[in-house]
Amino acid sequence: MLYCPPENRYDNMVYRRCGKTGLTLPAISLGLWHNFGGVDRYEDGRAIVRRAFSMGITHFDLANNYGPPPGSAEEAFGRMLRDDLAGYRDELIISTKAGYGMWPGPYGDGGSRKYLLASLDASLKRMGLDYVDVFYHHRPDPDTPVEESMRALDQAVRQGKALYVGISNYPAARARTALGMLREMGTPVVLHQPRYSMYDRHVEEGLLGVVQDEGIGCIVFSPLAQGLLTDRYLGGIPEGSRAAREHGALQPDAITDARRAQLRQLAEIASARGQSLAQMALAWVLRYPQVTSALIGASSVAQLEANVAALDQLDFSGEELSSIDALLAQD
Ligand code: NDP
Repeated sequence: MLYCPPENRYDNMVYRRCGKTGLTLPAISLGLWHNFGGVDRYEDGRAIVRRAFSMGITHFDLANNYGPPPGSAEEAFGRMLRDDLAGYRDELIISTKAGYGMWPGPYGDGGSRKYLLASLDASLKRMGLDYVDVFYHHRPDPDTPVEESMRALDQAVRQGKALYVGISNYPAARARTALGMLREMGTPVVLHQPRYSMYDRHVEEGLLGVVQDEGIGCIVFSPLAQGLLTDRYLGGIPEGSRAAREHGALQPDAITDARRAQLRQLAEIASARGQSLAQMALAWVLRYPQVTSALIGASSVAQLEANVAALDQLDFSGEELSSIDALLAQD
């Protein structure tokens, strides 16, 4: 059926600026790492993407290797662009990345110029695009000089194949070096993409200061710790959940009784704020002004809608934050 997004789709979404750049992103962005691959039902993913755009989510995050199989999420998204979003390209921020293993041999992994530029061409082909909005180096590569990877990102922009660039998973010191190089070259860098959730707070120890100093944004992935910071696992491991899936990245043994007890206590704090645990976990990562967007995954439209409702209550009292810190310190 023809997709007609509502005209008021931008009215209720919150948009935040990537540092001091000209680019704004929705406070909640949608990632296609899981649930959009060749092993998943196209129509399920399509419904999630359509609903996201209808709610003002303008940013969709991909990578060359998302699937499984690798590349299939980009293919599915390309199909959605053709089926539903062809007329809306100028309203979309589409990102992709290269950095993890993608094809056999020495040139399909890491951070070489050879790999990054070939991979971007392949991503554009799979999605049927002339350009992506953001092209990232997906992870630091200790065997390639940072300068080579950053020059490859710069080249992608000069070729007109990316409007902006970003880095992902770079620790603070290496990020500072890389961002300094991009600044020197005049490359339009807008984002760092690190993992951040109540269960992984490493960005608080330096990285948020680096993005602030460099005037760029930060989009944080797995803010729900892949579903752990929700009610998904409180009563067991449901069939079809990420922890139950063969290719799931969430290890079932991470979900212990002690973890469940802690999650229930966090859920009580959330409930007193009028939120679900998932909603509070999203608001919590967004409490730093440096965090431009929380990059979520979803396996259903209902999850997506529930997560976007987190934006109704973003403020925290000092008391709430201390109670959360105290619970997390029990680990
Ligand atoms: P989340 O932490 O948001 O986890 C998403 C999963 O949590 C969903 O698939 C679903 O799992 C569950 N979930 C989501 N909402 C709810 C809810 N309201 N109630 C119950 N369960 C819920 O993020 P992801 O780990 O999926 O990562 C998000 C995106 O970040 C990726 O798609 C990707 O774009 C990016 N990313 C980037 C990385 C990088 O290295 N740069 C690495 C990892 C991710 P279920 O399937 O069980 O329903």
